[in-house]
Amino acid sequence: MAYFADTKVFQLNPQSPDAQIIARAAAILREGGLVAFPTETVYGLGANATDAAAVDRIFSAKGRPASDPIIVHLYDVAQLEQVARDVPPLAYDLARRFWPGPLTLVLQRGAAIPPNVSAGMATVAVRMPNHPIPLALLRAADLPVAAPSANRFARPSATTAAHVLDDLRGHVDVVLDGGAAVIGLESTILDLTKEMPEVLRPGGITLERLRALIPGVRLVTRHLQPDDAGIEAPGMLLKHYSPHAELLLFAGSAEAVRVCMQAAARERLSAGQRVGVLAADEDAPDFAATAAVVFQLGARADLPQIGTNLFSGLRELDRQGVDVILVSAVEPVGLGAAIYDRLLRAAEGRVIECKS
Ligand code: AMP
Ligand code: MG
Repeated sequence: MAYFADTKVFQLNPQSPDAQIIARAAAILREGGLVAFPTETVYGLGANATDAAAVDRIFSAKGRPASDPIIVHLYDVAQLEQVARDVPPLAYDLARRFWPGPLTLVLQRGAAIPPNVSAGMATVAVRMPNHPIPLALLRAADLPVAAPSANRFARPSATTAAHVLDDLRGHVDVVLDGGAAVIGLESTILDLTKEMPEVLRPGGITLERLRALIPGVRLVTRHLQPDDAGIEAPGMLLKHYSPHAELLLFAGSAEAVRVCMQAAARERLSAGQRVGVLAADEDAPDFAATAAVVFQLGARADLPQIGTNLFSGLRELDRQGVDVILVSAVEPVGLGAAIYDRLLRAAEGRVIECKS
């Protein structure tokens, strides 16, 4: 089979995916090829998780360093025994409550999963996506499927098939187009291999919801720089989800941020730069009189909508060729924690504090 020569794109109805197309894509996975598919979080770039050579193709297609581990996707809780060992009862409790859904569990890696999936670590990250297309695909292939986000390394995650093709055309055998991802932010990662479970990445399942089940759970955001020693989850690197443009993240009271962002927009525009703004709907008029390109994320209070639109906003402003993107921080509470985390990484860890 000739890998990567030619990327085939199939449109699928996300509610009732065509069984013949699913069977074709499943056969490609079984033969060691790469299939990109939608999930409820972002698009995934999938390969047979039990085939080290197939998993290597993911790393080369994405330009992803071998030190960055990949999440394994399941269609049935019973597969946990195949991909992990010493699975604690808490994992089954959480799976019952949150799967299929945007919660990834870090467990002890089972013998069926080759080390390259987990960047050589003794653990494995697993989840069950809440989307009929990957569920049907994984069932048809009858495989656990390793699938990171379907974007070039360090780029904003892909939330549409068009984003996948922008980054990976010619590097993936099949793209299953099932429309835009609903959540738009990657899964919450919960490490169950520690004495006390730790959230390594905030996502669609909030810390507050996990606390109801695991009162002591902590959010451990390791906003590491690339040269830091002892990186446990290198996806935690600060430079991540980056647009080509420089991203300026503003924090402070709503009024202070408004003044600060308008001043920054004026300053950059008069310096001859093309300026983009990611703005809540209510804030968009603040920039209407300027030459800035405004992408509206949704109503300020509608965090799910802002989450859905965040990565496509970064990509759209990049496409329009802006030099700099201005965006206001959100309160890191509930789903806001996941949005704030992605913004902070896209801003390479720098926050501009605005004083009124
Ligand atoms: P992505 O699927 O591209 O959103 O990235 C997967 C991320 O999951 C990685 O960058 C890591 O941060 C995390 N991850 C995957 N496997 C493990 C693991 N075994 N232990 C800890 N974190 C993991
Ligand atoms: Mg990713």
